[in-house]
This record gives sequence, C-alpha cells and structure tokens, in this order.
Amino acid sequence: MLEFPHDAHTHTVYSDGTGAIADNIAAAEERGLGVLAITDHSHYLGPRSINRYVRDVRRWAEDSEVTVLAGIEGNITVNGVDVPEFMVKKLDFVIASVHEWLETPEEYLGLVKIALMDGNVDVIGHFGANFPYIGFPGREELEEILELAEANGKAFEISSRYKVPDRDFIAECIKRGIKLTFASDAHFPAGVGRVSWSEKVFLKAGGRKEDLLFAELL
Ligand SMILES: [Zn+2]
Ligand SMILES: [Zn+2]
Repeated sequence: MLEFPHDAHTHTVYSDGTGAIADNIAAAEERGLGVLAITDHSHYLGPRSINRYVRDVRRWAEDSEVTVLAGIEGNITVNGVDVPEFMVKKLDFVIASVHEWLETPEEYLGLVKIALMDGNVDVIGHFGANFPYIGFPGREELEEILELAEANGKAFEISSRYKVPDRDFIAECIKRGIKLTFASDAHFPAGVGRVSWSEKVFLKAGGRKEDLLFAELL
C-alpha cells in the first residue's frame, strides 16, 4: 500500500492510451488512490475535443471517491509548450515534457528551461528520461534548472515509468521547496497507480507529505 496514493500522469483514448476515462478512474478506485490525474497528450486535442475531454473527466469524477483532475501533457518545442491558452483555462494543471529526439543534454536542458519560464506550466514530465542516451548534464547545469524551477514555482514528477529523476535530484528539490508528484505515465488502465518506485525514491530522498504538489488533496 502507498503512503501517498496518487497518480498525476495517465493517458486514455483521448490520446494514445487504451482505456476510457471511466476505466482509468475505476482502476484508481481499485488501487485505493486518493488523487488521479488524466493527462492526455496535447497534440491529440483540439478546440472541440478539449471540451468533451474536460466534461468527460468532470462527469465521471462526480461519481467517484477519487479526486480526479483534468490535466494535459504538452510538448516542449523550441517555439514553446504547445498547450494553447484556451485549453489551459479549462484544465486543472499542465505537464510539459520533451518528446523529441535530441543530440546533447545541453539541447534538452535548453528546452526544459523554456517550460520552466512558461507561466502556464505546472509540472515538468519525466525529467531526464533520455539522459542515458544523450549524456548526463553536469552539476552546474542541473543547479541552473533547479534554481529556475524554484524561482518560478515549478514542480517535477517522479516517473515510475522512466525511473527519473534520480534520488539526488529529488533530494535537491525537497531542500529547495520544489514540489513533486508521483507518475505512472500509464497508457492502459491496469498501469494506473503503479507508482511504487516514485514513492520509494521520494521517501528515501526524505520527502514528506508537504513536499507533494497535491498534498492538500491527499
Ligand atoms: Zn511523456
Ligand atoms: Zn505521458
């Protein structure tokens, strides 16, 4: 059993997931989650489907004991995060992630900095998932990311899917008051709530309830 049972990153058929919103909520209930976020990919949603999406989340949330949030996972590009203002207004929170292939950690961090300075972004998704492939940034470069996150009130997710960020980075977040979330990044209902790695590393890094972005909902 989880001490802080929440999953702040899941996908449904509104993007590339296999389950309906109701299926993810049912899975969250079965796993005893207190908070579940539906966070489909922004590029699958348009001006009309965003309304259906949020309405669907709210409707199913009404009948559930789980607090269900309507979120989104935007893509960070050199032109900014691709979540338009009209979508942001309807949503509870915005995750921003790098999904494109990059050559160097500097390039990657350059994109993350764009998101850290974007007023619409709340959480950075799976930070560092591609470091094993493109190389790990140096200490000073990471320091700069942490400073920007702290200054702009951004949170990081602890991704059980990619097993990032590492414990040192999470401990640094906690020290600086940067909030954290647990994330399965599930693309199918059976994966919803699989965040035990997130909680394990969070606790090992010295995390307490108040270090979680959604502490008040738990
Ligand atoms: Zn992602
Ligand atoms: Zn995702």
